[in-house]
Amino acid sequence: MLIGQGIDAHRFAPHRRLILGGIEVPHPLGLEAHSDGDVVLHALCDALLGAAGLGDIGHHFPDSDDAFKDIDSRVLLRRVVQALAERDLRVHNADLTVVAQAPKLAAYIDAMRECIAADLDLPGARVNIKATTSERMGFTGRGEGIAAFAVVLLDDSEAAIAL
Ligand code: MG
Repeated sequence: MLIGQGIDAHRFAPHRRLILGGIEVPHPLGLEAHSDGDVVLHALCDALLGAAGLGDIGHHFPDSDDAFKDIDSRVLLRRVVQALAERDLRVHNADLTVVAQAPKLAAYIDAMRECIAADLDLPGARVNIKATTSERMGFTGRGEGIAAFAVVLLDDSEAAIAL
């Protein structure tokens, strides 16, 4: 097994859709970003790349590249999963935490889970998503933005056989 962790945070901005875990969540504010601002998928991509020893999302999809402007982060996630598959690495499970004072996310967790499990080619039970507030402390607590944390395990048994 290979373990990886990823962390991301984005600032709220007006006139943007709020995309979290691959789905749109109704909210007056979205997240500022070069891509669609999906902080959950960005943390997940970083965890996957980290476990595989492949650097980070900024290295693979630089925000200086117009090709990634407003891009659907699910496209990035699928590219990361493809890069792992090319190295005979399979995702074993993922555990994600979203930190947001608002909006309330409980009603959207199942849809996020379904979306992420599909992109990781995993049963839903292998993808866990938790939402929490930070009790009004810090930048998430003041409603300045949203943070996300991801931990993943990769199965490298096929890669080990290839070696
Ligand atoms: Mg990001």
